[in-house]
Amino acid sequence: MSGQAWFQKKPKIAAPGPAEASANSSRMEGIWEKCDECGDIMLAEELTKALNVCPSCGHHMALPARVRINSLCDPDSFEEFDADLESMDPLQFSDSKKYKDRIKSTMKALGEKDAFIAGVGTFDGRRVSLGCFNFDYMGGSMGSVVGEKVTRVFERAIELKCPAIVFSASGGARMQEGILSLMQMAKTCAALNAFREIRQPYISVLLHPTTGGVAASFSFLGDVIIAEPRALIGFAGARVIEQTIRQKLPEGFQRSEFLLEHGMLDAIVQRKDMRGKLIQMLGLLAS
Ligand SMILES: [Zn+2]
Repeated sequence: MSGQAWFQKKPKIAAPGPAEASANSSRMEGIWEKCDECGDIMLAEELTKALNVCPSCGHHMALPARVRINSLCDPDSFEEFDADLESMDPLQFSDSKKYKDRIKSTMKALGEKDAFIAGVGTFDGRRVSLGCFNFDYMGGSMGSVVGEKVTRVFERAIELKCPAIVFSASGGARMQEGILSLMQMAKTCAALNAFREIRQPYISVLLHPTTGGVAASFSFLGDVIIAEPRALIGFAGARVIEQTIRQKLPEGFQRSEFLLEHGMLDAIVQRKDMRGKLIQMLGLLAS
């Protein structure tokens, strides 16, 4: 088997001239998408309409943070805050690449300053302070900017006396900021604790994947914790755990369904039902 799908093969026709080739490719690119789970091919437009959920098997693919926020809040209600916060590279860290350069190239590629988008929006007319991780930005890692933005989600909710919702998708703390990134775990939890005073709900939505320091702090402290289907959720990776405890882990370990069965989640909600479910929960819990 060649391993190349039919739609990726070049047509057996005479090679077009350069101008024609580029016009053709821009027309053809992005028309088809393939599901990683079931392998079905679908129109990209169809997939976008379904918020990146495979129409054949229901597999929830990644969804850009801004698209997610806009699909959940009332139309045009989301107002972004703290969009200008940027990491200072306090340790002047360097691995295979300087941290400063890594940030610069990621910013350029994604047009985002860090891995978290925060603001205020309404859900069926009810004001909510919310934020969403952008996993594409350095694996949704939490450095001082992400931690500060999450903290401000809770602080803004206190100020506005409104509920808070955080959508998590993260590989954990951002190693390049060392202890300053680990400190964000305590800082965000302290802000959440202060938020408890106003007696409004905090709904935590866990997306694929929610791991490390984010899973071990505010994202598992929701009054209600919900997850998308089949999301990978946990602190350490399965291989690390297996090697540490020298035991084979059960089937489906660290997936939403397994966590729900073991009492770690309150519900698993399909992407298409998320807005309705959040509105329902806010209606029941918020004052
Ligand atoms: Zn599929």
